[in-house]
Amino acid sequence: MTFSELGLSADLVSAIQKLAYSHPYPVQLEAIPAILQKNDVLGIAQTGSGKTAAYVLPILESLQGKSINKSRSIPILILVPTRELAAQVFEVIQTFNTSIQRKAKSIAVYGGVSINPQMMKLNGTDILVATPGRLLDLLSKNAISLAQLETLVLDEADKVLNLGFKEEVDEILSRLPSKRQNILFSATMEDSVLTLIDKLLKNPVRIEI
Ligand code: AMP
Repeated sequence: MTFSELGLSADLVSAIQKLAYSHPYPVQLEAIPAILQKNDVLGIAQTGSGKTAAYVLPILESLQGKSINKSRSIPILILVPTRELAAQVFEVIQTFNTSIQRKAKSIAVYGGVSINPQMMKLNGTDILVATPGRLLDLLSKNAISLAQLETLVLDEADKVLNLGFKEEVDEILSRLPSKRQNILFSATMEDSVLTLIDKLLKNPVRIEI
């Protein structure tokens, strides 16, 4: 099975070829078509499995043909536990972004650095990569709106909860429209993650690597 057979268009496939990915990894084989079909997805996958490209590629594909975002409403939110992961996911998005027609405007926001430069760049963001605390700060300053969110990705959900972000995640979820696509990745399935899955995912396609 090739990336093109999974439903990705030619310019994304050529970006993938430039990275010398010879074939899709197992998590990508299952997640890419499921996400393109707008299903909710539960991925039980470790770092190193290729999980980042498994959700970034179909998200970039789904943006093709969409008009440029001119508002402060965010259509796609990728919630991550740490600043390091936020930076890594942002880099993966940028790598694929260079070769597609409809470029995604993506911003990574996280704590530990000044909020003002992040706030100034946010208008018209297609894909926001965020840690929970900084996201809530930006919401409380009305710098963004999640009322029109179409797709939520919660990456490394077990780590998000283990770092003590449960209340922040609950608060963020309460700000989202009820009709949306949800994608959750976690390396482990402890009770707290299962509780979150029950709350978040509707009939998910389950992928276990
Ligand atoms: P991740 O699990 O998302 O952190 O990805 C782990 C590493 O695998 C990253 O360095 C990716 O660039 C690489 N990678 C992801 N998908 C593929 C693929 N299909 N073929 C080769 N390398 C890949």
